[in-house]
Amino acid sequence: MSGEKCFEILDKIFVPKNKQKIEDIKGYKIKYGKIVDNGQIVDEVLVSYFKTPKSYTTENMCEINSHGGNFIVRKILELCLKNGADLAEPGEFTKRAFLNGRIDLLQAESVIDVINAKSEREAKTGIKQLEGFLSKEISDIKKDIMDVMVNIEVAIDYPEYDVDDVTISQITDMLDKIENKLLKLEKSFDNGKIIKEGIKTAIIGKPNVGKSSLLNAILKEDRAIVTEYEGTTRDTIEEFVNINGIPLKLVDTAGIRNAKDEVEKIGINKSRDIANEADLVIAIFDSTKELTKEDLEILNIAKNKKSIIILNKIDLETKIDENNEKIKQTSDNIIKISALNNIGIEKLYEKISELFNLNEINLDSESIITNIRHKNLISKSIEDVKKTKETINNKMPLDIIAIFIKDILSDLSNITGEEVSEDIINEIFSKFCLGK
Ligand code: GDP
Repeated sequence: MSGEKCFEILDKIFVPKNKQKIEDIKGYKIKYGKIVDNGQIVDEVLVSYFKTPKSYTTENMCEINSHGGNFIVRKILELCLKNGADLAEPGEFTKRAFLNGRIDLLQAESVIDVINAKSEREAKTGIKQLEGFLSKEISDIKKDIMDVMVNIEVAIDYPEYDVDDVTISQITDMLDKIENKLLKLEKSFDNGKIIKEGIKTAIIGKPNVGKSSLLNAILKEDRAIVTEYEGTTRDTIEEFVNINGIPLKLVDTAGIRNAKDEVEKIGINKSRDIANEADLVIAIFDSTKELTKEDLEILNIAKNKKSIIILNKIDLETKIDENNEKIKQTSDNIIKISALNNIGIEKLYEKISELFNLNEINLDSESIITNIRHKNLISKSIEDVKKTKETINNKMPLDIIAIFIKDILSDLSNITGEEVSEDIINEIFSKFCLGK
């Protein structure tokens, strides 16, 4: 519970073993006692006390730790509600922390990222934002913009001095610097997207080349069906896998085959569609056989994408290798493996790392944008910097330039939530799970 009345409500339902007045209980204390309803004991519990302003929401807060179990927890919750508490809305605790000024909006949003993190890297990025790294970067840029404002205000306030070219070129230089910082943040979104959503990877190849076997080798679990018969993998299976902390979103398709009937046709088109949507295409071939017409079709799909060519079954006698002209023309990224015997899979991981610069994504030294709302506002602020520079080039009066600069400031204030509208705040917190 959080809020002015939380201790009052607690007092009605909780009997601590050593009764103490609430004024005498310090924050960050845990007390043992019993939850009671009309004199009946509901459960033995531990209650943690947090006193304003030193709590998650900055309000008075308490947490009741019961033995758990649905019935008891519901019973305690009902007791709290009966005695005057309201059920928290999604994200309400974090929303209060934001509204009470303990964290900014950017940090509040990173709480969702931490909760929803699918990988260590993603969680780390969220924690870093929660700690305020990105907020600091934004506030540094805002300070730079304030400096520009000061320069301009001085010039406006003393109109008897002509605004000389030096001032103008100084302002332009400062704006260039600001634009560069913003561009770097904007670019970091691509890395952030990889961290957050994973590299969407399509494994394509005609039937029986070893797609399922490869998927199994990667997942190291028999979750995909491996079979010698064609067509059992008609339905798409999606799997996440972590390579060096980066989530890879693998999509195994029906494979591309001769369009014999309607259902099969869907298979082909689906493979194409999935390949089209994918960030990475892994095209796999049976190296014990010469390339067929269907293989060439697969090569064709891979050609226009970021792709890796896999020659599978190298444990057997092979008929094609990396010197095959058609393969060489499609991609430089050729890897020979045996999916069945787990040979060469590491090389595949290394290749993926290389293609997506995964080793360069350094979470410790870089601020990374992972949220589309932030990205859009950064992009808008870059546009506004450009507009401001244009205004300067067009020799517009300084007070007009100042208006444009204020737009940049307001874009950035929207990110940290100083100027954000209530609708947006409500939308952001509605994405939280209940009460968090
Ligand atoms: P898919 O239809 O492309 O998914 O192919 P599967 O993964 O089902 O493999 C088809 C057949 O090839 C199965 O019998 C696999 O055991 C076999 N196979 C797959 N990879 C290899 C490999 O590296 N070496 C050998 N010898 N057989 C393999």
